[in-house]
Amino acid sequence: MIWKLSLTHNHQQSNEYCLTMTHLKRNCQLRQWFGPIAQQLFKQASYKHNIIASAQNQLSMIIDKQSAQHFLIEASFFHQKCVQLYHINQDLKANCLELTQEISELLLYLRMTDQHPTHENLNLFADCHMHCHLDFEKALKALIEANLIQKIEILHCIFYDKNPRPHDHIFDHQNMTLIDCDSIDSQFDDPKLITHSANTKVINTYH
Ligand SMILES: [Zn+2]
Repeated sequence: MIWKLSLTHNHQQSNEYCLTMTHLKRNCQLRQWFGPIAQQLFKQASYKHNIIASAQNQLSMIIDKQSAQHFLIEASFFHQKCVQLYHINQDLKANCLELTQEISELLLYLRMTDQHPTHENLNLFADCHMHCHLDFEKALKALIEANLIQKIEILHCIFYDKNPRPHDHIFDHQNMTLIDCDSIDSQFDDPKLITHSANTKVINTYH
């Protein structure tokens, strides 16, 4: 029993999960996963180790060497499944982009998350999934230029959107989040909110 899997909710105020695999004796971190994939992998491991009943509160588990090896193999299969499901390679190829690990991981995260991540969140993602931040910035730029994602700037905040087409957003000042207009109902009709058209870059305030 030497490996530990721990799931952090709202990792560094990102509103995303982070899963860490640590070697307990050596106290060294082997792998990290950020975002929806982290939550899914932990859920699968919880079922496998029969801790379904306590899964809601159980945010870490200790596993032996063999289970750790199985977990890594399953994590790799699950990752491949997601890459197919979210059409990552097809869309990168169709846009003549080089299939690097950085660009494919980044597009996968952006397509899997429910959020419009900030640049800070993408940095946290890069800390977990990438070795080189320079490659991450290059990958981000390439995705924007290929129009596979879009960058939205509002009041000194930068957000990234998996939907590259123009659509309206609501900016929540309090939580510093951006939400698609059609994903919320009218009860959110709050004077603090701002609508933003990504098409024209016009910001209308309703104060
Ligand atoms: Zn959007």
